[in-house]
Amino acid sequence: MDDRLLDVAGAARFFLDSCHNPDPPIDPVELAAMWDLEVVHAPGPAATIGGFITHDPDREPWQQRFDIAHELGHLAAHHVGLPSTCPTASEIAGAILVPEQDFKRQLSRTAWDLAQLVGRYEVSWEVLARRLPRTVACVATIIDNGDIWYRERSRWVTNQGGPHPKRLEPWEKELVTEAAGSERHVYADNLVTAYSVPSPGYDRVVLVAGVEEWEARTYRAMAAE
Ligand SMILES: [Zn+2]
Repeated sequence: MDDRLLDVAGAARFFLDSCHNPDPPIDPVELAAMWDLEVVHAPGPAATIGGFITHDPDREPWQQRFDIAHELGHLAAHHVGLPSTCPTASEIAGAILVPEQDFKRQLSRTAWDLAQLVGRYEVSWEVLARRLPRTVACVATIIDNGDIWYRERSRWVTNQGGPHPKRLEPWEKELVTEAAGSERHVYADNLVTAYSVPSPGYDRVVLVAGVEEWEARTYRAMAAE
């Protein structure tokens, strides 16, 4: 097999290596400069044109960081031989802004306190939630106004109970209702946490559970039905 064929994590590692593995918070403008790309302001969606990355300065600072990192994601995908699609570029962008090894260390240091880590990496909750199941064995779910917006479970862990439901389990609903709109996070215990995320105009909750704990709660409830 062509050794340039790497996965998303490999593409991000390659890119960070090429930039001498900077410490978080990662500055995508600095990384672009190391690849001789100048970052300039322009309205509309970010793009890479010749030696320039353009991005919209009217977006929120964390969005601008992600927009630039997304363009770097395209570049990294191209260099390691991955299809340079936008979803792949976004995934690589997340792995550039939240580097795997550092993320693992910080998760154990903070006992999975995502609120602290959002600040450390200067990314959105969504970026962090999407990084989680790719980094540690967990089920991460983003719930907006009570509906699942995103749900992913670590793919390397064997699934005990068949297909993964895309609906909220009763025990999840309870936690989400408790967390939504509250200022504090709801700690059910240290293996399941619901985070209430400040969002304009809607209730967003990020629910994170260890895979085994998630399955134990879900399938125990199903068996009792
Ligand atoms: Zn794109």
